[in-house]
Amino acid sequence: MSVIIDIRGVHKSFGSLEVLQGVDLQVRSGSVTVILGPSGSGKSTLLRTINHLEKVDRGWISVDDRLIGYRRSGDKLYELKEREVLKQRTGIGFVFQNFNLFPHLTVLENIVEAPVSALKRPRKEVTELARGLLDRVGLSDKADEYPRRLSGGQQQRVAIARALALEPKVLLFDEPTSALDPELVGEVLDVIKDLAHGGTTLIVVTHEIGFAREVADTVVFMDGGRIVEQGPPGEVFDNPSHERTKAFLSKVL
Ligand code: ADP
Ligand code: MG
Repeated sequence: MSVIIDIRGVHKSFGSLEVLQGVDLQVRSGSVTVILGPSGSGKSTLLRTINHLEKVDRGWISVDDRLIGYRRSGDKLYELKEREVLKQRTGIGFVFQNFNLFPHLTVLENIVEAPVSALKRPRKEVTELARGLLDRVGLSDKADEYPRRLSGGQQQRVAIARALALEPKVLLFDEPTSALDPELVGEVLDVIKDLAHGGTTLIVVTHEIGFAREVADTVVFMDGGRIVEQGPPGEVFDNPSHERTKAFLSKVL
């Protein structure tokens, strides 16, 4: 299968703190990559560079053979204009830990908003798509509710439907179940599993080891701004080769 997300030599600093210290990662189309690692290891920053929410200091990222945030001219890179970045970003879905739904919009309006305003798609067509997506995440009956009237698990499922409404090439999840009560984690993981089986390319930052074992094609372990180890879940979980991976797993397994 072909590589859809290509991350090469990415460095990123905040002030004097080098948060990404040369990250290389290739993600195949239709695959599921789970990123693990201790707090502060750079997982969120890496995800955020993939849709240019953070600029990289060195290296580059491409999605579907398109450079993210830049265009190449000769051997130089020029940053894209904000409008072009926003357009590019619509192809890269992002689901956050804290759902980030618009509180003043209904569930249906939350999903319809971006395809209509950013992609200029006809509202009627998008509304139909949105209803189909709500059905897919098991929330057909909540279309006209406001987010505050939903449980955390339901809100996160709306956030997933909202990301899917832009028909992204890839979908990135940053600890999608970390803010949920334990009994609500399963319903969100089930939706993500369903996407995985449907062939959507996913990168998921999570501490849910059971999910990673079951769904991931590749598990990536990050520490100190670097990818320390990666491989199929069986390998990384049962036979980690790096001391830091072993130490981390001994705490979470
Ligand atoms: P993780 O998601 O693995 O917990 P992050 O990518 O969020 O790690 O953060 C990595 C490091 O970068 C942390 O030390 C964090 O405090 C720092 N950091 C993240 N974002 C910023 C920012 N906008 N400004 C300054 N420091 C940041
Ligand atoms: Mg994080």
